[in-house]
Amino acid sequence: MLKKTLLILGCFSIVTVLASFTFEKKQKAIKTIVIDAGHGIESDGGYNGAKGSYSYEDEICYEVSKKLVKEIAKEFPEIRIIETRPERTIVDLHERARIANHNKGDLFISIHVNAAPPITQRDYLGTKKVVSYTGKGKKRKKVTREVPQYRTYKIPNPAKGTETYIWGSHKNEDKEVAMRENAPMFNEENYKEKYGDIDPNSPDFIALSLLKTKQFFKRSATLSGMVEEQFAKVGRTSRGQRQRQVGIWVLQATAMPSILVETGYITNKEEEDYLNSESGQQEIAECVTNAVKNYITWLEKQGNQNLNTGQATVSNNDQANMMQFLKQIDEHEHSK
Ligand SMILES: [Zn+2]
Repeated sequence: MLKKTLLILGCFSIVTVLASFTFEKKQKAIKTIVIDAGHGIESDGGYNGAKGSYSYEDEICYEVSKKLVKEIAKEFPEIRIIETRPERTIVDLHERARIANHNKGDLFISIHVNAAPPITQRDYLGTKKVVSYTGKGKKRKKVTREVPQYRTYKIPNPAKGTETYIWGSHKNEDKEVAMRENAPMFNEENYKEKYGDIDPNSPDFIALSLLKTKQFFKRSATLSGMVEEQFAKVGRTSRGQRQRQVGIWVLQATAMPSILVETGYITNKEEEDYLNSESGQQEIAECVTNAVKNYITWLEKQGNQNLNTGQATVSNNDQANMMQFLKQIDEHEHSK
């Protein structure tokens, strides 16, 4: 039914997408960038993100994001910058997406810190004689066995490096990370009312995700590659650009190309120090800014190419696909 369709469209800001695509030709490549500092301090004063040996993801995200805002403002004074978490306190994911969409962001950059669980080690200590008895009465027999002895203990996970995520529609891995990133959302009261029934396997959800992915995939993927390129350039361990299907709701919910940067592992001693240092935070901010610079150059080149060949940024083909997609949702609703 149309009503329901419109509701879905509203939820996923497809209207915003359509509008932004229609007018894109006349605009500058990037007018507004949304910076999203992950997590934040809860009302009870507790932290929400990953935990290192002495620091918290929430604080690092905040500090890096502030430096990123400064760097982008310095580099592109004409670009409007919107922060989804301007203070240290937490902002729920729904509000973050609303801020981004309401301000008609052209780019959404979420800053996070990674964590890896400790690794369990097992050392062989030799064997120990263990005596037991079998049978009853006269048949009772003493049995001596050599039982191997082990000592188990946990060591810090050596995982380190950066990863830049984009919304992926055909991969279902990295679930562990996804669950972690999703946790704040599911902790919120009435999350179902706010986010609706998030069933990543529902046809509507998949269809919308596919549409969204198609429209923004290329841009997000391009930028994520550029971010990792910059990290590698300054000697960080780049774990590359990655995709997720679930867990990065905020990337899916923002009607603009969007990336989530995992700036390093808080569970790695060396990287925890780096992530907490002024120079490390500054370096991360500069890497992301340089990537944005390359991205804008790439976008403008694309725009010029399109103009030179007399095409709008969105081809007729894409528009036709979009209309076809809207029709499909409607038909799907009628068949229920
Ligand atoms: Zn995080």
